[in-house]
Amino acid sequence: MQDFSFHNPTKLLFGKGQVSSLKKEIPAYGKRVLLLYGGGSIKKSGLYDKVIGELKEIDANVVELGGVEPNPRLTTVNKGITLIRDNRLDFILAVGGGSVIDAAKAIAAGVPYDGDVWDIVTGKAKAPSNAVPIGTVITIAGTGSEMNGNSVITNWDTNTKAFFNSNHVLPRFSILDPALTATVPRDQTVYGSVDIMSHVFEQYFHASGNAPLQERIGEAILRTVIETAPKLVNDLRNYDYREVMLLNGTLALNGLTGMGVNPDWATHLIEHAVSAVHDIPHGGGIAIIAPHWMERVAAVRPEKVAQLGVRVFDLDPTGKTDAQLAAEAIRSLREFWASIGAPTKLSDYGVDDKAIELMTDRAMLADRIGNYVPLTREDVRTILRNSL
Ligand code: NAP
Ligand code: FE
Repeated sequence: MQDFSFHNPTKLLFGKGQVSSLKKEIPAYGKRVLLLYGGGSIKKSGLYDKVIGELKEIDANVVELGGVEPNPRLTTVNKGITLIRDNRLDFILAVGGGSVIDAAKAIAAGVPYDGDVWDIVTGKAKAPSNAVPIGTVITIAGTGSEMNGNSVITNWDTNTKAFFNSNHVLPRFSILDPALTATVPRDQTVYGSVDIMSHVFEQYFHASGNAPLQERIGEAILRTVIETAPKLVNDLRNYDYREVMLLNGTLALNGLTGMGVNPDWATHLIEHAVSAVHDIPHGGGIAIIAPHWMERVAAVRPEKVAQLGVRVFDLDPTGKTDAQLAAEAIRSLREFWASIGAPTKLSDYGVDDKAIELMTDRAMLADRIGNYVPLTREDVRTILRNSL
């Protein structure tokens, strides 16, 4: 294990009707509020009216910014920064999925920063320590953004999707009401389930040796997703399945399984490169890319993939080599994702080989890609080609 410090102060308010906690939670941060949301799902579901009702009860001054895109854009982040500065707002309430919350974090960090917020997102500048405080109402299980300091933003001028992480943008509180996720359509429910599993993989395939407890926690999350997702996709309004999946998403990427380990993140970096060029859903891209990435991992270091197969997919190891078990594990993963309706080829989203070099360039923007198994440019290109 590596030495580590862990500090995650996000207060979770979990359960039915927790939106009514907003009037208690917000005043500690001020009553001049930027209400941030996505493309309209919260209006359709009635959540918007409930949130506005809460804000009225505390006489909040509310400025709204709706229309945050899935794969949120730098242009939207800049709009939010301007609104906060012009209206002297104290607090950001992000109501929506990972995209809305990620946008809130970039806005929060960008407000006190004199330069271009893109410098913060790309790591050229450090996030200032006095970011605008954020609270969230999460409406879809998946990213874990409700309890982490990550923010992923797309710059369409340069076809770049980049992310930053800062403790200063950790939500002060997050409302997790599983009932609010009941309207998530089937495809997005599948994408969320895939994203959760991938967050576990990225930390499970770590380069830090001894971390058996973190791996066991990750395996428990994976097994719980595998148990729950198939039932959930056939019974989308089932509260019990929704609550399990929501907590899975939060715990998969709130630092718990990442304590003391050096995570990999190669699949995410490759997916970010794809969605920066083609704007596909994050979890859909992950479902396509992850098995090809895992094949590359298995070719170099099959033992952990074999362990995953035995402990998560219940493979019988008797008389098998790690390489054989790893191949079976990857087959099991593919079968599982196909069984819940996840996409298998980038061509399902109309992606062809024209932009392979551009996507490879974008994936290689980080100093290095892959920690458990470092990837070369050729590896990335092959993973992308195999994903087509
Ligand atoms: P999302 O992009 O926030 O939302 C996807 C779609 O689901 C949107 O069209 C949204 O509609 C809809 N939706 C959300 N809640 C709904 C509900 N309750 N009922 C009906 N529709 C609903 O999805 P996400 O997977 O949570 O976020 C993806 C983004 O997060 C990507 O940019 C990805 O790169 C990033 N990400 C972040 C982290 C992190 O740690 N921060 C980790 C992984 C990925 P509306 O817009 O109309 O609401
Ligand atoms: Fe993700």
